[in-house]
Order: sequence, then C-alpha cells, then structure tokens
Amino acid sequence: MKVRAVPAAILLSISAIAPASGPVGTAGAAAGPGAWDWPLSPRPAVVRAFDPPDKPWMSGHRGVDLQAAADGAPVAAPESGTVSFVGVVVDRPVITIDHGNGLRSSFEPVESGLSTGAAVSRGDVIGTVARGHCASLPCVHWGVRRGEEYINPLSLVTDLRPSILLPATRRNGG
Ligand SMILES: [Zn+2]
Repeated sequence: MKVRAVPAAILLSISAIAPASGPVGTAGAAAGPGAWDWPLSPRPAVVRAFDPPDKPWMSGHRGVDLQAAADGAPVAAPESGTVSFVGVVVDRPVITIDHGNGLRSSFEPVESGLSTGAAVSRGDVIGTVARGHCASLPCVHWGVRRGEEYINPLSLVTDLRPSILLPATRRNGG
C-alpha cells in the first residue's frame, strides 16, 4: 500500500502544478528576443539546457551551460549593466550583472577582476571561465533572473518562439 501511495501523490502534485505554470510564462520580454549577445565567442554550443524546477525548493537547472573554447576563455557581458556581485559562492567564483529592468545575469564558474558597482558594456570581457561546472568540458553556467524568477537565457539571445503567433506566450514545452 505504501508503494501505491507514492505515484498518487506525484500525480496530484503534477496536476496541481500544471495550471499554475501557464500564467508564469515569459510574456513580455523587456529586452526583446534576440537582443543580447552570446557571452562566449564563437557562438557556443549549449551543453545543458534550461530546466527550471516546478517548485523553488526542488532541484533543476536554473540556467544554461555553454561550452567554452577552453578553460580560461574570456566571458563577455551579453548586455550592458552594472556588476552587482563578484565573489565565491560555496566553492565557485560567481559574477552577477544587473542589466536594469529587473534582469540579472549570473555566470559561474567565472573568475573576474571587476568590482561590485563597475559598469560594463555589451561585449566587455567580465572574466574568464574557471574549471568545474561541466565534468569534462570547459563550460560556463549562465543564469538569468527577471525579478526572482529564473528565465531561459537563450530567450534573450535567440528567438525561441514559434513562428506562428499564438494567443499567449507560454512555455512551449521546453
Ligand atoms: Zn549549469
């Protein structure tokens, strides 16, 4: 009986989450899709996609992992802004840039000589890729928050919307 109770609970929680995930979509991207530059050059491969958890306390992937050319490769600001954090979080170097409009980018593991409050322009080098996020590949983790909500960073550099316009912008399953 114990075993059968578990799937039931999971089903309940999924059906409870499903309707809630609609309104929380990514409507109204302030910067507009395709407006930002890639933080790595040449255009990087996406090693691991954005996979936000259904609930804040659950595990997931709150950003994208981009393949770097090598450890130590330069990381550029995808959009202008102000450095709002530079430091070590737990065991990894992190830099956060506040782009305005409630949008903040965080990169890790990235070592930076910049200081909090420094202004950066799009394309400026903000640091270099350190080891450790992807097991065998040099990579950088890029997370973007709008307010407190994590959004898909790729929605800012590439247009992920379907070409057919739907009544509302919602997550298209991905
Ligand atoms: Zn990651």
